[in-house]
This record gives sequence, C-alpha cells and structure tokens, in this order.
Amino acid sequence: MRISNRKRVLVTGGAGFLGSHLCDRLLKEGCDVLCVDNFYSGTKDNILHLLANPHFEMMRHDVTFPLYTEVDEIYNLACPASPIHYQWDPVQTTKTSVHGAINMLGLAKRLRAKILQASTSEVYGDPEVHPQQESYWGHVNPIGIRSCYDEGKRCAETLFFDYHRQHKLEIKVIRIFNTYGPRMHPNDGRVVSNFIVQALRGENITIYGDGKQTRSFCYVDDLIDGMVRLMNSSKEVTGPINVGNPVEFTIRELAEQVLSKVGGKSQLIFEPLPQDDPRQRQPDISLARSALGWEPRVKLADGLDQTIDYFRTLLAV
Ligand code: NAD
Ligand code: UDP
Repeated sequence: MRISNRKRVLVTGGAGFLGSHLCDRLLKEGCDVLCVDNFYSGTKDNILHLLANPHFEMMRHDVTFPLYTEVDEIYNLACPASPIHYQWDPVQTTKTSVHGAINMLGLAKRLRAKILQASTSEVYGDPEVHPQQESYWGHVNPIGIRSCYDEGKRCAETLFFDYHRQHKLEIKVIRIFNTYGPRMHPNDGRVVSNFIVQALRGENITIYGDGKQTRSFCYVDDLIDGMVRLMNSSKEVTGPINVGNPVEFTIRELAEQVLSKVGGKSQLIFEPLPQDDPRQRQPDISLARSALGWEPRVKLADGLDQTIDYFRTLLAV
C-alpha cells in the first residue's frame, strides 16, 4: 500500500561526486531518495548536508550483493570512475559494473521500475571516429589496465539491453563524458581536480604525455540535468545517449587555463602518458539535443571558477 505520493528513487553510488549532486536535485524535485553506497570512492562528507532531511535515507551496501527494497525508479551510478580508483582493485571494478548491473536490473524487474545506467564515453575506448556518435561501436583494448572499467561498462550496457528485450524492462542508458565540479575527490587523479589542487598548493602541474590529447569537459549541473531529463523522457527513448560538453580542449590548454585563474608559481611538467590513454574525445550530442531538448549551458571558464572555489575552501580546512 502507498501512503505517500512522493516518487521513491534509489541512487546507487549516491555518496560519490555525481551521485550526491543527483540526490540534491531529486530531493529538490520532491522525491524520497534512498542513497546506496559502500564508500569505496565516495564519502559521507558529500551527503552530510542531507542526513537530517527526512526524505533522504542512506544505506551502506555493496551493489555486488542483491538488494531488496521498494522504489519506483533506480539510477545506477555505483562504480569508481577515476583511473586511480578503478585500477586499485580491478576485479572489484568489473564485479561492481557487471554483478551490480545484474542485481539492480533484477530489482527493477521485480518492481517493474524504470532504471537508468550511468555508462561512459570509455565504451568508445581510444576512438577512431571523431566526434563520437552513439552508433560508433568503439575501439577498446579488452586486456589493458583500463579494461576492467571499459569492458565492465560495456557488459553492463549489454545487460541493460537484454533485460529490455527479454523482460520488457524500461531502461535508460546515458554515456557520460568527462564531468567536473565541486565534490570531485581531491586525490582521485582526474585531470581537473589534479590541476586545480596542484595549482592551489603551488605544486608543479603534471601533464601526462605531450598535453596534445583532448577532452571535452561538462560541468556537473549540466550533466545532472541531462540525466534527469533522460529518466523522465518517453518510454521509447532508451539510449544509449551521449551527454557531455562538445567544446574540446587539449590537456595543455586546460592546464594553462587553471594556472591563469589560480595564479601562483606552479610550473607545467611533463610525465609519461598512461597506457591506453585516449588521444581525443568529443561527444556528438545531436541525439541529446533532439530527444531530450538538452545541451550544456556552463562554459569551462565559469565551471572552473566554481570548482576552484570549492577546492580552495576544502584545502583551507
Ligand atoms: P565516484 O567515484 O565519485 O562515485 C561512485 C560512487 O559509487 C562512490 O560513492 C563509490 O563509493 C560508489 N561505489 C563504488 N563501488 C560500489 C559498490 N560495489 N557498491 C556500492 N557503491 C559503490 O564517481 P562519479 O564521478 O560520481 O561517477 C558516478 C558514475 O558515473 C560512475 O558509474 C561512473 O562510471 C559514471 N561516469 C562518470 C564520469 C565523470 O566524469 N565523473 C564519466 C563517465 C561515467
Ligand atoms: N592527465 C594529465 N595530468 C594529470 C591527470 C590526467 O595530463 O594529472 C591527463 C590524462 O592522461 C588524460 C586526461 O588528462 O589524457 C584526462 O584524464 P582523466 O583521468 O581526468 O580522464 P579520462 O582519461 O578517464 O578521460
């Protein structure tokens, strides 16, 4: 029996960078939010401000084990996302993507709940097609150090589409491109957080390779808006659908921009490029524009200001 009319939403990985912003957004929209996280790469600090909210509930749980609960919608974000974190325990990373997807899909099937998978631009690997459209099948090394993440996420997409075909489950698959903003972990090794933290500490800025590789950076508020729009889209819109900012920068340009904003005496230094590091990445977001009416609004310069403010406060404590 339903006592309340509020939508009950499960967010796995809800104590992480993106998950905590998603919890904020869903609570603002009047949902009851159940946040499930094992704190592998997320932290309670990201959701401290929500713990007193009666419409928010936190459960410490590892999604590689089954979960029994009652909800109307599931956002499956649980998975370490930065190379340092996902390569720390690669077997657990694959288990989280694959067993986690099976468990959450099983839950969705029992409840007939709509379920969204946080997939990634990494399914395109080191792309030979540029910019990347959803129809591109990718160029992924199946046995390299990034494979636990890339192949785990690819297998999760397969599972989502098989549950959709076989069990008529309502699914949504979002392919997220590099996203940045407040609540990124200061030590997770991702490029935006690394460069800002290094600049604020007056340390050298570590560019891997020659810095000519490119990425396209999406501000977190834009990304969360695209994700919620996808969940609320009509039944036929299953994805996969790219969500990211199509404005492309070289890693060197990013370093220079961070340095000019933070100031200080940091030098740019060059270190070896990690294995299988993609040379270029830029989303084609035509589908997100037409199917979701979505496009990013926040320019890198403005998003960096917000992110620098966040890390300045964090590091001062
Ligand atoms: P994050 O590491 O900050 O968040 C992931 C969360 O999942 C963490 O709180 C972690 O503790 C939790 N988690 C990990 N394994 C778990 C398990 N077995 N059981 C329960 N919880 C578990 O990373 P993020 O940047 O917030 O990424 C969130 C999702 O979005 C991930 O699925 C990631 O693959 C995807 N994604 C993110 C980006 C990005 O640029 N941030 C890009 C592409 C895809
Ligand atoms: N990178 C860098 N210096 C750093 C961290 C990362 O030059 O201190 C580079 C990294 O080699 C890659 C790009 O920045 O080419 C983006 O790295 P990140 O780990 O943020 O994301 P991903 O490679 O998963 O897109």
